[in-house]
Amino acid sequence: MAIIKIESLVFEYRKEDGAETVKAINNVSLDIEEGSFTAIIGRNGSGKSTLAKNINALLLPGSGAVYVDGFRTSDDSAVWEIRQRAGMVFQNPDNQLVSAIVEDDVAFGPENLGVAPVKIRERVEEALHSVDMYELRKKSPHMLSGGQKQRVAIAGVVAMRPKCIVFDEPTAMLDPRGREEVMGIMTRLHEEGITVILITHFMEETVRADRIIIMDAGQIVLDGPPAEIFRHSDQIRRLDLDVPLAVELADRLRKRGRAIPWDIIEDKEMVAYLCR
Ligand code: ADP
Ligand code: MG
Repeated sequence: MAIIKIESLVFEYRKEDGAETVKAINNVSLDIEEGSFTAIIGRNGSGKSTLAKNINALLLPGSGAVYVDGFRTSDDSAVWEIRQRAGMVFQNPDNQLVSAIVEDDVAFGPENLGVAPVKIRERVEEALHSVDMYELRKKSPHMLSGGQKQRVAIAGVVAMRPKCIVFDEPTAMLDPRGREEVMGIMTRLHEEGITVILITHFMEETVRADRIIIMDAGQIVLDGPPAEIFRHSDQIRRLDLDVPLAVELADRLRKRGRAIPWDIIEDKEMVAYLCR
């Protein structure tokens, strides 16, 4: 079943002067299956964040429609149903943390949803465990590393028990270690059944998804499983995007006449293949 359904979505921003508009999403149609892990990548300004905010009803379609678990985002009375089902994690963890203590921060979302206090406790503990931050629950967020802060922000979303989480460049401000921590948490949440939509500009992160969508100028230009997508590495480079190291290497070896299997897209697999 599709948890997210996007039909012919067009979204325009009005420029400062009010007269001109920028078409950020230009006729996008897209279904996202419940329980899937989708990566969305595209150069700066390609419309990724605008798409994400349309899924969360932070922005509403100019034309077309967006449905979250059957609720139409343009339906005023559905906003809370939608926000609860489709959580969002942003780039900067500092902008997402509001309390002086980690566990209070995680409680903020369910409190806003009107969850009963005893249930909140249970949800907060569960969410902190799911991002491995339970031990640090009494700490102040400003004492934490970037990766830890982002995991607290993720726990805040998890505590709302969403079916789907949209991560908009969640690792962009983190060091390599923090990035790895957050990627690990996303993989785990996906394994636990949450639908994960990861927006990123790190191509290496997309190979873990089961579907990659490449956007350019407000449109979808490639959409498919990773091994399929990286058959189009020349087109990807023309879009100003990198390809994963293993794909780059496979391409070069193919040019020299080695028949490298197309499903080798991760470093580890490539090393295993070359050393076999
Ligand atoms: P991405 O997340 O892929 O970098 P965005 O969705 O942020 O892309 O932006 C898509 C397009 O919309 C860009 O041309 C951008 O300049 C424009 N845009 C984004 N936000 C606004 C805004 N608040 N007002 C006007 N134009 C905007
Ligand atoms: Mg963006």
